[in-house]
Amino acid sequence: MSQQETDQQAGVDDEGFVVDTEDCEAREAAHRERGTSRPITVVGNPVLHKECSDVTEFGDELAQLIDDMFASQRTAEGVGLAANQIGVDLKVFVYDCPDDDGVRHVGAICNPVLEDLAPEQRNLDDSNEGCLSVPTAYASLARPDYAVVRGQDAKGNPVKVRGSGYFARCLQHETDHLYGYLYIDRLSKRDRKDALKQMAEGTPRYEVVPND
Ligand SMILES: [Zn+2]
Repeated sequence: MSQQETDQQAGVDDEGFVVDTEDCEAREAAHRERGTSRPITVVGNPVLHKECSDVTEFGDELAQLIDDMFASQRTAEGVGLAANQIGVDLKVFVYDCPDDDGVRHVGAICNPVLEDLAPEQRNLDDSNEGCLSVPTAYASLARPDYAVVRGQDAKGNPVKVRGSGYFARCLQHETDHLYGYLYIDRLSKRDRKDALKQMAEGTPRYEVVPND
C-alpha cells in the first residue's frame, strides 16, 4: 500500500466505504457489555409500522441506545436490529452479519438511505428471510444481492456501507424497518398470511413486548 493510500480517512476503504470487518469480536463485545438487553417489539406494535424520526443528536444518549441495541441483538441472536424493534422511534440500526464470502460485518448506521442500483447491479436473490419482530417465521423474498446504504455514524459523520449476499439483504431489511416496513409487507398476501401463521404457532426464544 502506498503512502498516499494510508493518508485516507481512518476506517474507510479506498472507495470511501466504511471498513466494518475489522476487530468485529472486540467491537461487538464492547457495545454489548456496556448495553442492556431489551425486549423485542413484534408485528402489530405501532412503532414498527410508521417511519421513525431522524437522528439529530449524536451524543451519549445515542451511544447508549446503540449499546443497548447490540445487547438486544445478541440476546435475540439476530444479525441486524432497528431501533423501533426495541420500541425507540429513531432512525438507527445495528448489524452483526456475514456476507456472501462468510466475512463478518459489525456496525451501526443512522438515518440510512438505500442507494438505487444500476440495472446491471440488480441481481435478485430469493433466499429465505426472517425477522426478530415476526418470531419463528421465515419466507422466501427476492431482493437484490448487493446494497449500498448512505447515512451517518454515531458521531454524525457521513458514511456509506455496502454489502453482498446475506449482508445486502440485512442492509435492505433494516433500512425498511426504519421506514415502517417489515419484510412480510413485501410478500404476496398468501405468503404473508403463512408467515403470520408460523409466528402464531411458534414460541420466540427471546423476550418480546406483548401487543395489547
Ligand atoms: Zn426485522
